[in-house]
Amino acid sequence: MVLDTLGRPVHDLRISVTDRCNFRCTYCMPASIFDKDYEFLAREQLLTFEEITRVARAFVGLGVSKIRLTGGEPLMRRGIENLIAMLAEIPGVDDLTLTTNASLLARRAHRLAAAGLDRVTVSLDSLDDTVFRAMNDVGFPVADVLEGIEAADEAGLAPIKINCVVIRGVNDHTIVPMAEHFRRSGHIVRFIEYMDVGTTNGWCLDDVVPAAEIISRIGEVHPVAPVEPNYVGEVANRYRYTDGWGEFGVIASVTQPFCGDCSRVRLSAEGSIYTCLFASAGTDLRGPIRDGVSDAELEQRVAAVWSRRADRYSERRSEVTFRRRKVEMSYIGG
Ligand code: SF4
Repeated sequence: MVLDTLGRPVHDLRISVTDRCNFRCTYCMPASIFDKDYEFLAREQLLTFEEITRVARAFVGLGVSKIRLTGGEPLMRRGIENLIAMLAEIPGVDDLTLTTNASLLARRAHRLAAAGLDRVTVSLDSLDDTVFRAMNDVGFPVADVLEGIEAADEAGLAPIKINCVVIRGVNDHTIVPMAEHFRRSGHIVRFIEYMDVGTTNGWCLDDVVPAAEIISRIGEVHPVAPVEPNYVGEVANRYRYTDGWGEFGVIASVTQPFCGDCSRVRLSAEGSIYTCLFASAGTDLRGPIRDGVSDAELEQRVAAVWSRRADRYSERRSEVTFRRRKVEMSYIGG
């Protein structure tokens, strides 16, 4: 078990398998920046599945037990089921999950489950079709995402978490319908405060709907009560409906930062480690791996990176930090 400079262990490895996505969500990958001339990573720049699995093994050796596959859109990486099968074989991985926009999920859910995936998290920012199409900025319909959620449920990739980024004046008027739609479904909606990830989404504090306001809006219609976290370092604050019909979560990185228990590390598709979602730089592993580093040396390298870690961006967010160059979320995954 290796601890960082704030005594935090590493439990949760998030692996971005591609920087590409078929959506252009305005808060993550604005179309004006990620346009037809944008240079995405070339195939040879991406870590191979074997290389990803080696890095994952190194982190499991240091205490990681949860692996989340992300992107861009991870289902756009060809043959990802093979990677899932390789990661599922690593002793010590007891939670293998994937975050997707569900555009390809309906067709792939059963194959993902058969490969060894445990669960999925689906991004869905509104049930209002006009609002959702505008937010994903490619006109993708709500109905197809719901079909993907249903297929994942049938394939046993549950409990399904549904991530909903809330932006004032954009989709905040659809928070309560979203909560109502899923509260009897067994699926768990997590309402996410809009964050200043990367440097391209034009974030400003006025557009943030604080967690407290989200909870009170839902609570006005369906009384809720807080619930203990499932584990130390859980990202979402949990709330249950007092009538017994399910729960939801809020991820309050802006108004209630949770860096104190943060045990997450991210691997970019290009093979660099990032110790914070709001990092400005990462540590390259692809070079050493392709230069023939041994598994033991690889583990020492990632241990060294983690033991030097001191990140707590959300606790120190300010006008100054906000303007700092930060890695794009679409490059390292949420
Ligand atoms: S801001 Fe960085 S350190 Fe804080 S919770 Fe998020 S990823 Fe962890």
